[in-house]
Amino acid sequence: MALHRNVKQPSHLEQPARITSVYQKLQESGVLDRCLQLDARIATREELLWLHTADYVDELSATSEKKQSILTALERQYDSVFLCPETYQAALLSAGSSLQVVESILSGESRSGFAVIRPPGHHAESDEAFGFCYFNNTALAAKYAIENHQLERILIVDWDIHHGNGIQKMFEEDPRVLYISLHRLDIFPFNPENCDCNMVGTGPGVGFNVNIAWPSKGMGDSEYLAAFRRIIMPIANQYNPQLVLVAAGFDAALGDPLGGCKVSPEGYGQMCHMLTSLAEGRVAVLLEGGYNLKSVSDSMLMCANALLGDPLPTTLIGALQPGAAVTIQRVANYLLPYWTSLVVDVNSEEKNTKHKR
Ligand SMILES: [Zn+2]
Repeated sequence: MALHRNVKQPSHLEQPARITSVYQKLQESGVLDRCLQLDARIATREELLWLHTADYVDELSATSEKKQSILTALERQYDSVFLCPETYQAALLSAGSSLQVVESILSGESRSGFAVIRPPGHHAESDEAFGFCYFNNTALAAKYAIENHQLERILIVDWDIHHGNGIQKMFEEDPRVLYISLHRLDIFPFNPENCDCNMVGTGPGVGFNVNIAWPSKGMGDSEYLAAFRRIIMPIANQYNPQLVLVAAGFDAALGDPLGGCKVSPEGYGQMCHMLTSLAEGRVAVLLEGGYNLKSVSDSMLMCANALLGDPLPTTLIGALQPGAAVTIQRVANYLLPYWTSLVVDVNSEEKNTKHKR
């Protein structure tokens, strides 16, 4: 997965060092020695076709045979995507390794797990590479749990600073996957109509898509933990998932060059810790974005500590940034008709009772 790179621009943010520095950090901290290490594997064509079109899989597979000059021209048909001859193989390994972690958890071999993988996946559409993403790793992991283990309730928490447009699209009609994303509304993929708080799913999936869409930059531990306490955990507890997948981008981290937010490694650890109270601890943390090597490594380590049950440092919580409380209230208002666990104040309780009468 470290061979996939931007040939024209080697310093591109989505660089091989993202995974090698995380791996090194986990190794130096001794965490790796305490974990069962799984072999990476490629995703099979059959698995990819659960969510991607045959034409798209063929198109991407053909890139491994092409010269760099041709690939550089091909890139232009996608938005924010680079290609090299190793891209296809890396994307297969990134997706397949996500499935390995889920298999290890659902077969009872591991209680929880994490995947140090790239390229990321949550922007990938069924028929299109998009935003540094090729195959939708986290979505495929959910599908794997449905197809191979007949799971009926999977929670995906996507805390990458960008909206996971691909995951939303793939499951917006499917109540077997509850997708909860925390992201900024005003940045990539620059499609606020698609990722605002009013997108709650469609058809049988209505109520099972939750967008906690921050209006601007500057959000940190206080805002993220407030969203967890007020929205995510009440809904997740009521949903009672059999498996939790984290689309773990660390680009809302303090120091990230893209996110403009300030979540600390301890903050990520606390969020991960809260999720381990669900699904009997069956939590898989799958790396998505995150472009400050130190922030990504420190945050992933803290999540690994949380999964291992280590005591975590606390975070300092203060007043919410402007716009955060409004966002949380908006999300609650949109989701209130579907989740009674969100009813906490007297006014909505009365409204609900009147509604029932
Ligand atoms: Zn991102």
